[in-house]
Formats: sequence, structure tokens, C-alpha cells
Amino acid sequence: MDYLPLFFDLKGRQVLLVGGGDVALRKARLLARAGALISVVAHEVDPELRELLENHHGQIIIGGYHSVLLDDKVLVIAATDDERVNESVHYDAVARALPVNVVDNPPLCTFVFPAIVDRSPIVIGISSGGQSPVLARLLRARLETLIPSGYSRLGQLVGRFRDQVKARLGSVGERRVFWEKVLQGQVAERVFAGQDEAAERLLEEQIQAGNAGHQVGEVYLVGAGPGDPELLTFKALRLMQQADIVFYDRLVSAEVLDLCRRDADLVYVGKQRDNHAVPQEGINQLLIDHARAGKRVVRLKGGDPFIFGRGGEELEQLKEAGIPFQVVPGITAASACSTYSGIPLTHRQYAQSVRFVTGQLKNRGSELNYAELVHPNQTIVFYMGLHTLRTLCNGLVAHGKSDTTPVAIVSKGTSAEQQILIGTLADIADKQDQAQLPAPAMIIVGEVVELQSKLAWFGDGAAAPRMNLAQQTRAYDEQL
Ligand code: SAH
Repeated sequence: MDYLPLFFDLKGRQVLLVGGGDVALRKARLLARAGALISVVAHEVDPELRELLENHHGQIIIGGYHSVLLDDKVLVIAATDDERVNESVHYDAVARALPVNVVDNPPLCTFVFPAIVDRSPIVIGISSGGQSPVLARLLRARLETLIPSGYSRLGQLVGRFRDQVKARLGSVGERRVFWEKVLQGQVAERVFAGQDEAAERLLEEQIQAGNAGHQVGEVYLVGAGPGDPELLTFKALRLMQQADIVFYDRLVSAEVLDLCRRDADLVYVGKQRDNHAVPQEGINQLLIDHARAGKRVVRLKGGDPFIFGRGGEELEQLKEAGIPFQVVPGITAASACSTYSGIPLTHRQYAQSVRFVTGQLKNRGSELNYAELVHPNQTIVFYMGLHTLRTLCNGLVAHGKSDTTPVAIVSKGTSAEQQILIGTLADIADKQDQAQLPAPAMIIVGEVVELQSKLAWFGDGAAAPRMNLAQQTRAYDEQL
């Protein structure tokens, strides 16, 4: 180990910063966050640095560096572009046994600044010992994504109760077990869900009981996105990684499922259009039963759980049963298919609004409000519309939409098998009869579909020269 990581309490202590430019400003920001009293010495001082010093009781000395400025300081940083000055600062500081950092010059440093993940009171410093600051920063970015920002509030909460727990639980071993359960259980989850008061009440109860052992479980209703695992949210991934049991739908991709905790039980409860593996009431009951048994239950749904996902219904039942839950949004198919096919859903020129509509029709389409759907300058996105495609197209045309309106079918959006079929309200149903693109598929109706030939970027087809809509229609007509 080249450097020993230590955490320096700088609150109210004097630090000398030599230099007044950009680099000095970056260091000053860090020092100010740690509550240091900063003195800057420089011939010129960056206005932003000047303002920061004014706001943090700092001091500016206009002029050259002199060793006398080291008096009363506990730490020194040299951030000038004058090598001679930097060297003097180094030797003067070493002579006085003061810790010194010369920015970007490891041989002249007695300490280095780590890359920092700040979830105060939890702080993580990552150092490459000056060998590769970029590598340290990349690692930092990875940690930032793994550690929820709620850790900060969690740290503060448990900090407030530390003494109480010490008084309640005699042995170090007991306290360790207690805190491990608290920090991985519902108290932590309540904090991450923004329910700090509930978390505090629960923690108080657990301290009184002298044990954080017995807990009701919890249900996480998690949007798994459209298929590409990179489109999961950090929160979804975190909850999937701590699940005891996962109930998932047909639309959840294998790659996404693969990211659940290794030891979790994975249970398929998916449904096909008319064939439910487990009926909805059964799913609700499964969630409740497992949560009551103290499990952390993840209910994983394709796309977003609140968009044609029946997520609301499942939650109503949980609420009635008194089971705590959290909901994590996911990227919905409309959004995913739009972006991955290069069809913006709105566009200054073509569409000022967009409607998400279910294409699942009960009475041959009579319950759809076509009059509202046919408004000009509006994109319509149909979920679950593949099997009613012809009815939908005919309905729109019968209510006044031009039959030349462009239509796209995006099948298996975001996956390696994504396919796109382009047509018009007049011919897309025939084209689909021929092409037989498989479900799941989204149908996008509107002028914005024209942009696909220009903006496609994903998948093999995107790299090849593309035909525009007129060319495609001609090619198709020639085929017939
Ligand atoms: N809650 C989901 C939608 C469930 S309804 C969401 O927010 O995306 C199921 C319909 O979603 C399917 O019939 C299909 O129209 C659409 N769908 C879901 N995933 C899709 C995908 N990867 N590609 C195309 N359509 C998809």
C-alpha cells in the first residue's frame, strides 16, 4: 500500500491554497465542503473562486507565495502553473511537517486527493496513488451507480440512534447483528422510499424490542423495461439483487431475469393474450403470502408497471393487506420502440401530442374513441394491437384519418431480433399478413414515422442505406 487512506477533519481549520485559477477552484470546492477555512494566495483570483471564498469565510491574499503564509495552517495545496513556486511550497511544507499536495505532481505530494463518492456521513475515497486518476474516477462512477443517494440519510438516521442501541444491547456481537439487519431490512428501504419518519418509527420499535429480527416482508413492483438490460434503472437493479423471490411476466427478457440475485426463486406468472399462467387474483395472493412470510418479493413487469401493466390493481390489494411496497418505473414499450426505431413520438413539424392506446378491443373496436384519435398532428401508439391491426387501421380511416398516414410496426423492440415494418393505414395490415412480424409489437401511427428512414440507428438494418417510405411502398408494390 503506497498511501494510507485517512479521513481528515478540516472543520474550522486553516488551509493554504496557492494559486487562483481553475484547478485551485476545484480544490477549494472540496475544502469548503469539508468546512475548512481557506486562504488563497495568488496574483489573480478567478471570480468564481472569489465568490466561493466570500461565502465560506475564506481569505484572499493578492501577491506572491511566501513561507510565512504556512504559519497556523494544517494543510497546504499548491495549484499554480509555476514549477518553482510549487517546489518551494513542497519543501517549505515538508520542513514544517505539514501535509502538502502539489496538484498533478505526485513526487511533490505527501498526500493525494482520492476520487470521492459522497453520501455523508458515508464517504468513499478511491485512490490510484497518482498512477491513474482516470481509473479511479471510472471506479467512482461505478460506485456512484451502485450506492443509492439515500445512504446519506440512512447514515444520519442510524447515527442519531447509535447511543440508544449501545445502551439497549450490551454486547458488541448483538449490536453488530442488530445493525446488519436494520441496514439491510425495512428501515433502510423506508429511507430509500423517502419515508424517513416511518423508518425512524420502525427503528425505535426495533430498538425497544431489542431485536430487528422479525419483519414483515415487502413487495417491489419493478418495471423491467422493454428487454435490453441496459435500460433498467439503478433502483430496479438494486432491488432485483436483494430479492428472495421474483414473480415475472412473459415480457421480461431472459437477460434482465439473469440480473436477479443468484439465490432468488424465479417464478413465471406470465400471461398470453387469452391464456393466463396464473390468474390475476392468484398473483395478488402470491405476493401477499410471500411478503407475510417475511420475504422480499420482486414483482417484475415488462416496460413500466403503471402503463397497461395492471400494476395499480396489484398494489391496491397489497395496500388492503397492509403489506409495504415500492414501485420502480421502467422504460415503457412506446418510448423504447420509438427511440430504438428512430421514430420520435413528437416533433415540432409533425406531432405536438402523443396518445398511448390499447389495441385490445372487446367489441370489434366500438369502444375506442376514434374521433379523438384522428386529430391531426398527433401520434398514436397502440399497445397490444397486432391482432387487431386491420380493425384499428380501418377504424381510423373511417373516422377521417387519411389512408396515406404512415404506420410503423416495431416488433421485439430493443432486442437483437427487433424488426420494423413501415406502411400506411391503407396497406400495413396486408404487409403484416405477409411479413408476420412476431409479438410483442408496437404500432406507431402518424407523420413522425417518416423520420425512421433518416434516424434509424439500432440493429443491422440501420447501417445499410435506407429506402424512404415512398421507395419502400414502390418496392413492395413491385413485389406483389
Ligand atoms: N407495461 C408494458 C406494456 C404491457 S402491455 C410497458 O409499459 O411497456 C403489452 C404490450 O406492450 C405488447 O402487446 C406490446 O404491444 C408492447 N410491448 C412490450 N414490450 C415490447 C417490446 N419489446 N417491443 C414491442 N412491443 C412491446
